[in-house]
Amino acid sequence: GSSILAGRRGLIMGLANNRSIAWGIAKAARAAGAELAFTYQGEALEKRVRPLAKELDGLVVGHCDVTDSASIDAVFAEVARAWGKLDFIVHCIAFSDKDELTGRYIDTSEENFTRSLAISCYSFTAVAQRAETLMTDGGSMLTLTYYGAEKWMPHYNVMGVAKAALEASVRYLAADLGEKGIRVNAISAGPIKTLAASGIGDFRYILRWNELNAPLRRTVTIEEVGESAAFLLSPMSRGVTGEILHVDAGYHVVGMKNPAAPDI
Ligand code: NAD
Repeated sequence: GSSILAGRRGLIMGLANNRSIAWGIAKAARAAGAELAFTYQGEALEKRVRPLAKELDGLVVGHCDVTDSASIDAVFAEVARAWGKLDFIVHCIAFSDKDELTGRYIDTSEENFTRSLAISCYSFTAVAQRAETLMTDGGSMLTLTYYGAEKWMPHYNVMGVAKAALEASVRYLAADLGEKGIRVNAISAGPIKTLAASGIGDFRYILRWNELNAPLRRTVTIEEVGESAAFLLSPMSRGVTGEILHVDAGYHVVGMKNPAAPDI
């Protein structure tokens, strides 16, 4: 295969299991020659992340819960100790109380709003702050977003608002870090059945709707998201920053239901 990430070192945050988008990205980055480090959130996920990291000859740099800034500092200190520098980071982290990923957005509580925005949006900025100092030869930062940031989607609710803020933060971070040769981008992935997605109401219907209406007439895989991510992490995309790249089988260009699709 290609080796567009040969000699590059990157930190992957948000791996939960082998269905995670972070896993698709890690596999593609490794296949492209990158050396990887991983964080995990809590002991239960540590048991899943360690063997997966090992499969890719990766380093596990420790527990990181983005609501605890000391744990963010600790994993970046470990990256600094092990590698001294960093070429890319991948942020695949989002959270909302499941009870608010169904029904009406208007019913969102202030507590869940604040928590969801902190975990799903601010954490990328918090991570960028730490990564900046380690990206001494420039770098690439990547986060994951969804079309629910741009348009209303049933049940996505507060997460849509958080993703809109995340996409805006990609643009602001890109402007802040550009002069250091650090690029900041997001992938807007189509719906994929992961642990996080299982919290969203009627998710099977959303998958089916995308299959019937996306230009490619299917949904996307974590491997496809991973290969597009490898491009954004690599010098092949060196002229690209502040971008939201849709890896969604083209769904975002569709304005109306496909008239040939069956009713579901
Ligand atoms: P996933 O459940 O595999 O990953 C979500 C990760 O977020 C988990 O590893 C979890 O540990 C982490 N996380 C949650 N709260 C955290 C906290 N406080 N501190 C540290 N980590 C925390 O699900 P996924 O679908 O692979 O999600 C990855 C990213 O992709 C998310 O940002 C999600 O919104 C985004 N995304 C998913 C889809 C989809 O359909 N699955 C589509 C577009 C975007």
